[in-house]
Amino acid sequence: MERFQHYIDGQFETGAAQFASLDPATGTPWAEMPAASAQDVARAVEAAHRAFLGQPWAGMTATARGKLLYRLADLVQAAAPRLAALETRDTGKIIRETSAQIAYVAEYYRYYAGLADKIEGAHLPIDKPDMEVWLRREPVGVVAAIVPWNSQLFLSAVKLGPALAAGCTVVLKASEDGPAPLLEFARLVHEAGFPAGVVNILTGGPEAGHALTTHPKVAHIAFTGGPETARHILRASAENLAKTSLELGGKSPFIVFDDADLDSAANAQVAGIFAATGQSCVAGSRHLVQRGVKEAMLTRLKAKAEAVAIGAPDQMTTEVGPLCTQRQRERIQALVDASVAAGAKLVTGGVTPSGPGFFYPPTILDCTDAPDAHVVQQECFGPVLSVIAFDTEEQALTLANDTAYGLASGVFTRSLTRAHRMIRGIRAGIVWVNTYRAVSPIAPFGGHGLSGHGREGGMAAALDYTTVKTVWLRTSDDPIPDPFVMR
Ligand code: NAD
Repeated sequence: MERFQHYIDGQFETGAAQFASLDPATGTPWAEMPAASAQDVARAVEAAHRAFLGQPWAGMTATARGKLLYRLADLVQAAAPRLAALETRDTGKIIRETSAQIAYVAEYYRYYAGLADKIEGAHLPIDKPDMEVWLRREPVGVVAAIVPWNSQLFLSAVKLGPALAAGCTVVLKASEDGPAPLLEFARLVHEAGFPAGVVNILTGGPEAGHALTTHPKVAHIAFTGGPETARHILRASAENLAKTSLELGGKSPFIVFDDADLDSAANAQVAGIFAATGQSCVAGSRHLVQRGVKEAMLTRLKAKAEAVAIGAPDQMTTEVGPLCTQRQRERIQALVDASVAAGAKLVTGGVTPSGPGFFYPPTILDCTDAPDAHVVQQECFGPVLSVIAFDTEEQALTLANDTAYGLASGVFTRSLTRAHRMIRGIRAGIVWVNTYRAVSPIAPFGGHGLSGHGREGGMAAALDYTTVKTVWLRTSDDPIPDPFVMR
C-alpha cells in the first residue's frame, strides 16, 4: 500500500492515525492516508497564523509572492501526469479528464501570480482640509479551505491562488475521499519555496473540518461541498465569526429550443451530465427540451448514452469511470428508484451493475409527466439526466427557475434575441449559450440560493481575501484645536 503524509508547518508527517483509501474501480484499499485529529488541525492553524504575522511572508512584496505562485504553476504543469494518475486512482475520475484538467490548473496559479501585485488600494478625495485619506488592501489572515473529492486540484487552485496572491496563509483540508492528489500537491508547494506554515495541507472528515472551521485564528472559510455541510460550516463560523464563501451544488437546467443545432446540443448535454460520471457541481442535470424536438433529442441522447465506453478510469479510451464511493452509488440508485416510482420513465440505464468497483451507467429519465420526481429536484451528483418537455419560452424559464439551486445553466438556440431574453431571465450564476461546462481563471464562478454565495475565479476573488484599512493622515503642523469637536 502507498502511504501519504500531511504537510504542516513545512514538515511532512505521517500522523497518529491513518485510514485506508479505496480504489473506486475495484473497491479495494490501495493507500494509507493520515487522518488529521483536532490537535493536528490546531497545529496547522497556529503555524499558518505564525507565518501570516511573521517573516518572511508578512514582509514579502506582492511581486515576490507572485513569483512563488509562478513557480508553483510551473511545478503543477510538470507534475500534471503524476497528479492526474493519482486523482484517477483515488477518485475514479477518468484519466482523460484528470490529465487535461490538472494541466489547466497551472493556468489558475499563473493568473493569480500575475494578479498579486495588481491588488490596489485607493486614495479618497476626502471632504476635509489638511487630511490625506487612503485605503490599504490587506490580507484577511488565515484561510481555512475545504474541498470535496471531485476536481479537488482545481477547487483548491481557485482558493489557494487568490488567497496567496492577497498575502493570506492557508490550511487546506482535502476530502477524506480521494485525498491522494492534494497530499502529493503539498510536495510541489514545498518545492516552490513557500515559507513554512504559509500553506498547510491535511485530510480528515467532519471532525477535522469542525476543528478547522471553529478555530479562533481562522479569518476566512472557503468551502466547496454540499449544502448540508455548508450549514454545519455556517454554524461553526458563529464561533470565530470568520468570513465565509460557499460553492455548493446545483440542479442546472440545460435548455434546448427547436431552432437549435441538435447534434451540437446533444454533444454538449452528454459532456454536461456524463463527464466526470456526473460528479460535477455544474452538471446540466435537467434537460428542458421544446416539445417538437423532444423525440429527436431523446433519440440522440439515448444513442450516445448507450455508446459511452465505461471502464477502467486509467485507460485513455474510457469515457465514464466509476463513482468515487459506494455511498454515492447507493444514494443515486435510491433517487432513481424513487423517481421511477413517482412516474418518471426510464429511457436508459438506471440499474447498478454487478461486479467490482462503484460503476453506474449513464441514465436518462423522462420526467415530463413527473416534474416533481426526486431526480428533477435533488442533486444526484451522478450520471443521471432528467428530461422535461416544454412548449413556450415562458414555460422554459419557469421550469429552469423551479429549483432551490442557482449555479449554472445552458441555452441552445440560434435566435439571438431569445438567447438574450433567456440570459436575463434565468436565475443562475453562469449562463452558457450554445456551449456548456467551459471555465477559465479569468471568469468568475459561483451561484446563489442552495448553490451558495461568493465567486471564485476572476479578479474579484482575490479581493475577497483582503480587508480594507482606512488610513487618515493629518498634514497640518498646527496643534489640534478644540478637543471636543469631532473632526
Ligand atoms: P461534502 O459537503 O460532503 O464534503 C465536502 C468537504 O467538507 C469534505 O472535505 C468533507 O470532509 C468536509 N466536511 C464534512 N463535514 C464537515 C463539517 N462538519 N465541517 C467542516 N467540513 C466538513 O461534499 P461531497 O459529497 O464531498 O461533494 C459533493 C458536493 O460538492 C456536491 O453537492 C457538489 O455539487 C459540491 N461541489 C460544488 C462545487 C462548486 O464549485 N460549486 C464544485 C464541486 C462540488
